[in-house]
Amino acid sequence: MTATRVLVLNSGSSSVKYQLLDMRDSSRLAVGLVERIGEETSRLVHTPLAGGGDERRERSGPIADHDAALKAVADELAHDGLGLDSPELAAIGHRVVHGGLRFSAPTVITDEVLAEVERLVPVAPLHNPANITGIRTAQALRPDLPQVAVFDTAFHTTMPEAAARYAIDVETADAHRIRRYGFHGTSHSYVSRATARLLGKDPSEVNVIVLHLGNGASASAVAGGRCVETSMGLTPLEGLVMGTRSGDIDPAVTFHLKRVAGMSTDEIDALLNKKSGLVGLCGDNDMREIRRRVEEGDERARLAFDIYVHRLKKYIGAYYAVLGRVDALAFTAGVGENAAPVREAAIAGLEGLGLAVDAGLNAARSGEARLISPAGARVAVAVVPTDEELEIARQTFELVK
Ligand code: AMP
Repeated sequence: MTATRVLVLNSGSSSVKYQLLDMRDSSRLAVGLVERIGEETSRLVHTPLAGGGDERRERSGPIADHDAALKAVADELAHDGLGLDSPELAAIGHRVVHGGLRFSAPTVITDEVLAEVERLVPVAPLHNPANITGIRTAQALRPDLPQVAVFDTAFHTTMPEAAARYAIDVETADAHRIRRYGFHGTSHSYVSRATARLLGKDPSEVNVIVLHLGNGASASAVAGGRCVETSMGLTPLEGLVMGTRSGDIDPAVTFHLKRVAGMSTDEIDALLNKKSGLVGLCGDNDMREIRRRVEEGDERARLAFDIYVHRLKKYIGAYYAVLGRVDALAFTAGVGENAAPVREAAIAGLEGLGLAVDAGLNAARSGEARLISPAGARVAVAVVPTDEELEIARQTFELVK
């Protein structure tokens, strides 16, 4: 029997998301989530999808740590005849947020690779420790199985130095590995290639601006399949206005908050990462709720929406200039795929750049990749659903098959 299944694990600090895929046809056999790990109110939601069934199962009660979480996931999978001890399981693919400069491609995890991911903890203190815990736990469960790391930063390692370096003292920057790494790379890679396919072209033939607008948000400029610029930096805080992150601000705001407002570094960190962006501006970070409030005439929601869209527009213009020629612009992730008013407002007034959306096409709902620009438009505007788990599974399977 050949092994064709891949388990994809996305381990956060208190959660594990997982999907089991069969790479013969990229189908999902099971998907699930463990959340609030380490609390009394942990919860596991498991949905087996093989055989067309879809009886979602839920389990509540304390799950002490990632080890217990993964064992609970393994039990659920075994219950469906999809156990981790199955000879059909080819590998486990892990989402790893920060791969630094070293990892530009998916990598089979060895002790040495894990040590390097550990060395990157100072630049990804929130994410890499959780990813490492997930990897160690999975290794303990199946020590014989290849485990692959797929890095959020990998797609952006092709950025030229001019885009990747901050204009600060070079020695200080290098000593502390301060540079722009970018994130959401798996999504930017997947969506830029899917957009090329939608145009009937090879990725090497097209220049694409990708707008990944989820709760976290980032833009990228992709020239002939290679990322040349992206909006997130050393951390995911830089760039677009997000659900709870500020995106770009004058760095002197942080000194000001420290010196004048008397805030600590941790308080400023929390302010900019968790209490800013849409939630800081209007109290909501869900675009559905913000649009509902805008429709009702709520001024704060209107301002939050306008600031969000204004920033998007600035990035579209900037990346147009970086690329020189743009063949397509693709919207993806929760907001990008679903919020027609955001797409309409972001593109409004850009006819001079060859960018326009057709109101009817923009309003139509679909789970498929589709064009929303008018027929004959100079630049194709597309909505392309992202699928990071499938991309992680594919990259993992390619490496081990
Ligand atoms: P993601 O991080 O990609 O899962 O995106 C999550 C965000 O997508 C949510 O916080 C919402 O702001 C947004 N979102 C999801 N569904 C919709 C929808 N139908 N309309 C507008 N925004 C949506």
